[in-house]
Amino acid sequence: MKTINDFNFENKKALIRVDFNVPLNEGFEVTDTTRIEAAKPTIIKVLEDGGSAVLMSHLGRPKGVQDEFSLQHIAATVSNILGVQVTFVSDCVGPEAEAAVDALNPGEVLLLENLRFYSEETQGDVGFAEKLSKLGDIYINDAFGTAHRAHASTTIVAQFFSGSKCFGSLLAKEIESIDKVLSSGQKPVTAVLGGSKVSSKITIIENILDKVDHLIIGGGMTYTFVKAQGGQIGDSICEDDKQELALEILKKAEAKGVKIHLPVDVLGADDFNNNANTKVVDVTAIPEGWQGLDAGPNTISNFHDVIMQSKTILWNGPLGVFEMENFAKGTIALGHSIAEATEKGAFSLVGGGDSVAAVKQFGFGDKVSYVSTGGGAMLESLEGKSLPGIEAIKS
Ligand code: AMP
Repeated sequence: MKTINDFNFENKKALIRVDFNVPLNEGFEVTDTTRIEAAKPTIIKVLEDGGSAVLMSHLGRPKGVQDEFSLQHIAATVSNILGVQVTFVSDCVGPEAEAAVDALNPGEVLLLENLRFYSEETQGDVGFAEKLSKLGDIYINDAFGTAHRAHASTTIVAQFFSGSKCFGSLLAKEIESIDKVLSSGQKPVTAVLGGSKVSSKITIIENILDKVDHLIIGGGMTYTFVKAQGGQIGDSICEDDKQELALEILKKAEAKGVKIHLPVDVLGADDFNNNANTKVVDVTAIPEGWQGLDAGPNTISNFHDVIMQSKTILWNGPLGVFEMENFAKGTIALGHSIAEATEKGAFSLVGGGDSVAAVKQFGFGDKVSYVSTGGGAMLESLEGKSLPGIEAIKS
């Protein structure tokens, strides 16, 4: 796996695919700079070597050229974060972009206009990718969030940089973290899968059954498993057509020696509402008119014990409806458990959608080993799929 550390960028122009798809407010100010900060180490390494950086990204989903999606809006923020003046060029291919690249001196940074102003970008057009390839000597992909897309700037462009392409430090870290969880991690390995539906997690479950020692299942998925085993789940969320599948998963896990941990008690509510009446109930005896919306105290304690024995932990999906304050306790407790295990030396990766939001919201971001920056890309990795953006660098 070639990373930026395998290259010296002195007098080289690095064409870097970053993920600057950041949220903007109505005044076009960046409201969350995480992604820009995450790309900083790679850019700084290039500049410190004595090279220059040509940054390319998409922003939002423009239909053709739309000023509201211009990357010009974020140029000043990128300058501030990097501590280097950033020049913006109002095209991402063609004579204007090429002239701006030609004028670039070592230590300087150029930001190209939104790649998605051209539909060729998402189409993975080879001609467009070739035009992009003229804008640098070495190609670096540091955009994990789009690594699962075979777009021109994330995948296709790599074919024009034989021997001179590599992963940025952010993307390398993502790959290493996934690898630690799925193949090289210290045992026992535990995966916590929460969230709402079995159907959206089934491919992940099937893939990780070969890799983990413990599988904790929580959140809304719980009830499909409990009902399939004959429990009374009241009005809890359930995918009736996935009950067979749930039983199959349990059987497969047993055959593979994977220990499955399901909630034993839950916080029941008489409505899907933060102000609903609540009571702790046995997960197999939820009364009609009630639904399980969070993990119960015994469940929290059981999950804590499993987490504390684990040396490698993957967390994907909340244990309850954490968006409602009264049903966030299980998710917060799990965050505490994982933070404690991490402090004691376990490796912990939080990845994919809502668990990342929960970890950030409840302040666990710096208490786990790694928080993935890519939702869809992380989910596809956990499903065992190879990502085109990653393969393109390796080939
Ligand atoms: P996912 O996107 O599949 O990871 O699901 C995340 C969503 O699952 C969050 O919005 C949670 O509110 C929801 N969720 C978690 N537990 C439950 C539950 N017991 N009942 C309904 N929704 C839940």
